[in-house]
Amino acid sequence: MTTTTKAKRVFNFSPGPATLPEPVLRQAADEMLDWHDSGMSVMEMSHRGKEFIGIHAETEKLLRELMGVPSGYKVLFLQGGAIGQNAIVPMNLLRGHAGFDVVDTGEWSLKTIKEGKKYAQVHIAASSAAGGYTHIPPRETWQLSPDAAYVHICSNETIGGVQYHATPDTGNVPLVADMSSDFMCGPIDVKRYGLIYAGAQKNVGPAGVTIVIVREDLIGQALPITPSAFDYRIQADADSMYNTPPTYSIYIVGLVLRWIQAQGGLAAVQARNREKAALLYQYLDSTPFYFNPVAVPDRSLMNVPFKLRDPSLDDTFLKGADERGLVQLKGHRSVGGMRASLYNALPLEAVAALVAYMKEFEARHG
Ligand SMILES: *Cc1c(COP(=O)(O)O)cnc(C)c1O
Repeated sequence: MTTTTKAKRVFNFSPGPATLPEPVLRQAADEMLDWHDSGMSVMEMSHRGKEFIGIHAETEKLLRELMGVPSGYKVLFLQGGAIGQNAIVPMNLLRGHAGFDVVDTGEWSLKTIKEGKKYAQVHIAASSAAGGYTHIPPRETWQLSPDAAYVHICSNETIGGVQYHATPDTGNVPLVADMSSDFMCGPIDVKRYGLIYAGAQKNVGPAGVTIVIVREDLIGQALPITPSAFDYRIQADADSMYNTPPTYSIYIVGLVLRWIQAQGGLAAVQARNREKAALLYQYLDSTPFYFNPVAVPDRSLMNVPFKLRDPSLDDTFLKGADERGLVQLKGHRSVGGMRASLYNALPLEAVAALVAYMKEFEARHG
């Protein structure tokens, strides 16, 4: 059975849940009723059965291969989202320390700080709030506390469009990164991190599964109040199946990872992401009609917020974009304007179509 029906597909710039590769959606459709001659949908399988255990193992194996996850790190597939991790990380990683350091680069950092304060002393080692969250505070300005359990960063601020393009050095203090919106957008050196977490729904799958990659020596000392389902040690020992995992989401992540592999892996995906982002930023910088406020070296490859100089044109802009099948471009309510999210699965043609529309709009209204 093959899905050959022509579907109406828009260019979807959503910040998340976000666009997925069309071949993945087609394969999921083909396998919906009968996965690999099992006579079952993946949704209908026991998480303890051999079919799903195989899917889970294959997904983890692909993730480890693509990211180069070293031995000594556990890969967990959990629920609760990245926002859940803002509580779950301190519960698991304080290890007798009173608190952790955080670098405040925007809305998502602020959420980490607010939630973390319920469980720990949170020390803000650096902040770009004074500059309106338009850059990453340089590493040499960070004031790290000597007894921090870890240093938390948000590798890509989805709302502000600010991204780390190099891994900061935190010495012996483990680095923890919320990578929800730039997870697997390119190669990283996993061993520079103590823990990485990401909700799947931006770059690698549907909502419902949160991926955690954690250095094994950091786990096993969770606070006694930690729910068992969110205790990394318990979940690691149970292959993320202490409770029923989000099986269907994990299966789709597996298909996305296979698609990434077929694209040539993370280096190839990164090259394409750079090409897409460059196309949009170059145009934004070429005209006073639009602008992006982020410091050039810290601009995100994944989320590009931009504004029209004349905000009274915003609604007209969005309406015209919608009519051309360029959707979900409205900026986050906290910053206004527009935001184009250019995740892995968004094709270059989508960015080209957006830039063509922006030029046309400027010519008409500029
Ligand atoms: C989307 C996002 C989150 C929130 O993820 P949930 O799945 O809603 O918990 C957290 N951090 C960042 C950086 C995000 O982009």
